Amino acid sequence: MTVYSGPVFDMAANQFNVIANHLEIPMDERERLLMPKRAITVSCPIHRDDGSVAVFEGYRVQHLLTMGPTKGGTRFALSVDIGEVAALAIWMSWKCALVGLPYGGAKGGVNVDLSTISRHELETLSRRYMQEMIPFVGPHTDVMAPDMGTNEQVMAWFMDTYSMYQGKTVTEIVTGKPVYCGGTLGRREATGRGVAHLARRVMDVLSIKPSGATAVVQGFGNVGSYAAFGLHQFGMKVIAVSDHTGALYDAHGLDIPALMRHATRHGSIAGFSNELHFDPKEVLTLPCDVLVPAAMERVIDGKTAENLKCRILAEGANGPTTPEADLVLAKRQDEIFLIPDILCNSGGVVVSYFEWVQDLQQLFWEEEEVTRREYAILDRAFDTMLARAKADNIPHRTAAMAIGVEKVRAAKNTRGLFP
Ligand code: NAD
Repeated sequence: MTVYSGPVFDMAANQFNVIANHLEIPMDERERLLMPKRAITVSCPIHRDDGSVAVFEGYRVQHLLTMGPTKGGTRFALSVDIGEVAALAIWMSWKCALVGLPYGGAKGGVNVDLSTISRHELETLSRRYMQEMIPFVGPHTDVMAPDMGTNEQVMAWFMDTYSMYQGKTVTEIVTGKPVYCGGTLGRREATGRGVAHLARRVMDVLSIKPSGATAVVQGFGNVGSYAAFGLHQFGMKVIAVSDHTGALYDAHGLDIPALMRHATRHGSIAGFSNELHFDPKEVLTLPCDVLVPAAMERVIDGKTAENLKCRILAEGANGPTTPEADLVLAKRQDEIFLIPDILCNSGGVVVSYFEWVQDLQQLFWEEEEVTRREYAILDRAFDTMLARAKADNIPHRTAAMAIGVEKVRAAKNTRGLFP
């Protein structure tokens, strides 16, 4: 019997079983590796602007405490449930281990439709959620960050709420804060920048020149917009982007800096152009060199995987590809080079780690240093994944996850089982 259920949790469990079989992990060790250490459910009552009271359900899952504090984003979305949050926490563990950060994975979220609450209600909900979490988090226990539906402002409210209870400013309680509230230069751009950097590395491997190469990006929030911007800066044509409001297509390449300015001002890509509208359902299967899913999980199922026409699949989102799609991609690995999510979007947690380190030391770095160190970590993880995939003749996702799971397993076995 378990409280974790739903398609996203099943997907994380299914992926883990593939890795556990590959690594021949004994059955009696598997549950200890997969099942989350702690899960917290809270109800967050708030006063609405009209004077009524509304209650929102919030969660935090801390997957494992073996490697150090837990670390992970907070998602505000209607899809959020305990199973989804647990899956995202599990992926964070493998990701942190793969890139060598001293963290276990965590994730949190609130089940809320952001289109139905005002900015004032969002602030109240953010503060109440953090207040409910105070007994369970801390700079050396569990450190939050942004994810879908949350941003620098929400992180600032989290940090302020925690600090008010401590009677002093504790910037290191969350990452992804504004720079003037103890955030780091380069965090806002880190995830998308890392996606673009790794896509560029694969283009070198495949001898694809950026000038004339094309990209398609699903999702134009934090990750998607900065990934598109990075690819645009390399001289590539970003021919299509989509978000929850629709899609835009231009065979000559979209004006990404202008689209970013529009999305920042209006909150979405809607209203950018009347001529460039496109069917969002067709976006993922457009012919292109680099495809970046940067929105939701499970958008590439087996059928979509059969129809992909990209050369490189750079997974900006967490869990965009289902296990059925993975079977298809394994057959198509000579046609499509997969950069799996736990590597591809790890630039975010890498720079969050830098932010935490800087906050603890009260010593801040230049942006050039942040980005240089981010790329160094991504390059090392990329090389390790590629070498492992080649050596064992396994798909990239299996290689990346196997490296992560192996490190966690070694730490657990060496520390032993208490008592
Ligand atoms: P965000 O809220 O900033 O942006 C999400 C984007 O997805 C928005 O543009 C939204 O309109 C779009 N979207 C939502 N539903 C859609 C749909 N059905 N079709 C097309 N687009 C849709 O979120 P984010 O922080 O950019 O996160 C995106 C993904 O990247 C998530 O899977 C998240 O877990 C993952 N991720 C984020 C970070 C980070 O640092 N923010 C780090 C690692 C992974």
